[in-house]
Amino acid sequence: MRIARHIRALDGYVPGEQPKSRKVVKLNTNENPYPPSPKCAEALRSFDPDDLRRYPDPNCSALTRAIAKANGTSADRVFVGNGSDEILSLCARAFVEDDESIGSLDPSYSLYKTLAAIRNVRWTGLPVPRLDLRSLGEGGSPLPVSLFLWTNPNAPTGEFADPKSIAAFARKFPGVVVVDEAYADFARGNCMHLATAPRNRNVIVMRTFSKSYSLAGLRVGYCIGPKDLVDALYKIKDSYNVDAVAQRLALAAFCDRAYHRKTVAKVVRSRRAFTAELERRGWDVLPSEANFVFAKPPAGVRAAEVFAYLRSRGIFVRYFPGPLTGERLRITIGTDGQMGELLAALDALP
Ligand code: PMP
Repeated sequence: MRIARHIRALDGYVPGEQPKSRKVVKLNTNENPYPPSPKCAEALRSFDPDDLRRYPDPNCSALTRAIAKANGTSADRVFVGNGSDEILSLCARAFVEDDESIGSLDPSYSLYKTLAAIRNVRWTGLPVPRLDLRSLGEGGSPLPVSLFLWTNPNAPTGEFADPKSIAAFARKFPGVVVVDEAYADFARGNCMHLATAPRNRNVIVMRTFSKSYSLAGLRVGYCIGPKDLVDALYKIKDSYNVDAVAQRLALAAFCDRAYHRKTVAKVVRSRRAFTAELERRGWDVLPSEANFVFAKPPAGVRAAEVFAYLRSRGIFVRYFPGPLTGERLRITIGTDGQMGELLAALDALP
């Protein structure tokens, strides 16, 4: 069988471990520890299986309209995807020529690099504190970056970039900037105003139902941007990219604003308390505006070893080896009970 050369050479994205047992403390993939809105359970109960005979609405019309209305924009500037991962993959196909490249912060969401490899184009990482446009090929480099994926708050660091600096970057950037706001609901601000601005020509802001809405298993994400860019995504998507159940449940969750606010506030409160507890134990915790923290153990304790130790006790966190990330652990914020279990395990570290 013939496999394309660049696919043969590909390592493939490695998602966080999904242990089968429900007994483990799972703080490794930034899921929400609280259940989705009770409106989702209601919507599921009232879903008529007979509706599954038909294909779903290809344009997610009801959800798209609700998202547009909540953001004060028109429905033709909204695109709903099968998770925001699908949207990222579509962007890599829609906005990049074969001789161009995809850029992102470094470190950032490791899928971006894999998406570039799947698309068979180069990936350019910009060290987080030194965003230098020149290194993106302004001025006639043979490999210009045409798509920049700016995660804000960033992952795995949790750090929040001022929307003003993203706006300034986008103004100068010749290509498309996707602001990946998977974690923005846990942050003090966001860039949605850049996406909905009438003069916006190149900024797409992307959100997901996987984190703040507790619906990672449903696979729904969305983005808002200029109409011509959104049209391009519609042109290349699978005809029925979001299934009927997902459309219905995501809409129910999206409309339950009060529940969403409450859940987000609980996670943010726990993040602050957990950060203080880690710091009290001598850990260095990067200031996080997400639903996780990126933390370095005290001197003499290696992150990789803490990771293995916690795992042996049924507590799953995420470890990314490598020069930029290997000194720290990314720990998802769970319930206060789960964070307490993790701290107790750390206190018993041999
Ligand atoms: N962007 C970032 C920065 C993420 O961390 C994730 C989740 N791993 C995603 C996008 C993808 O989210 P979704 O579940 O919507 O595909």
